[in-house]
Amino acid sequence: MLAVKDINVFYGAIHALKGVSLDVKEGEIVTMIGANGAGKSTILKTLSGLLKPQSGSIEFLDKPIHGKVAQDIVKRGLVHCPEGRRVFANMSVEENLELGAFLRKDKKGIADDMASVYKRFPRMLERSKQLAGTLSGGEQQMLAMGRALMARPKLLLLDEPSMGLAPLLVREIFNIIQEINQTGTTVLLVEQNANMALSIAHRAYVIETGKIVLTGAAEELASSEEIKKAYLGG
Ligand code: ATP
Repeated sequence: MLAVKDINVFYGAIHALKGVSLDVKEGEIVTMIGANGAGKSTILKTLSGLLKPQSGSIEFLDKPIHGKVAQDIVKRGLVHCPEGRRVFANMSVEENLELGAFLRKDKKGIADDMASVYKRFPRMLERSKQLAGTLSGGEQQMLAMGRALMARPKLLLLDEPSMGLAPLLVREIFNIIQEINQTGTTVLLVEQNANMALSIAHRAYVIETGKIVLTGAAEELASSEEIKKAYLGG
């Protein structure tokens, strides 16, 4: 579904991604783990067209997307749910969700998806008229995910969905990610919480200073001594 080959990305003089290659197959949850500043968010931003790779290629559903503008990439079904929740604080929950569908014209489909987002996140239905900026951290995270789902993603990029959330809520968010995957959406997940990420993912990539240093089945990585020491707190 997604094939990234040898991409190099720079921020000015900073060489942030150094020849990154990875792939995601339809139906998978793939996670990228790594320390702060390793380049995980940079990979997602490059996939969604917010950053341009200086070299290398990105194919999505067998077509090149590197060099395309972000809007075209969303239209093809690759949707980025960014870090830090980034909801529109001065708009209601409902307006935020509607914005997620702004590139779509299928009114009936949009209404159906709105109903299924409200079903998946009942709290959003209760708060549909509330300003997004007044939601709790966990609620804003749910809204950000709901908004991304309104674009009807084939591949959903999730950047740190558990950031700043209480443990119970983290578990709930991960359950929801698994459900989203089981109902047909492929997921590429960036997480600091490597334990949780590996527990729901099929495969994983480990990123260090702009390079992929290890990849394998999530289960294998979760039981590797090296990974346990470096990323799983023991
Ligand atoms: P974290 O988990 O802390 O978010 P990350 O793995 O997602 O980390 P990135 O945000 O992708 O890391 O950053 C990769 C590198 O690129 C870091 O060294 C960072 O300082 C640098 N970087 C990121 N954004 C910019 C920017 N806008 N300008 C300059 N350097 C940047």
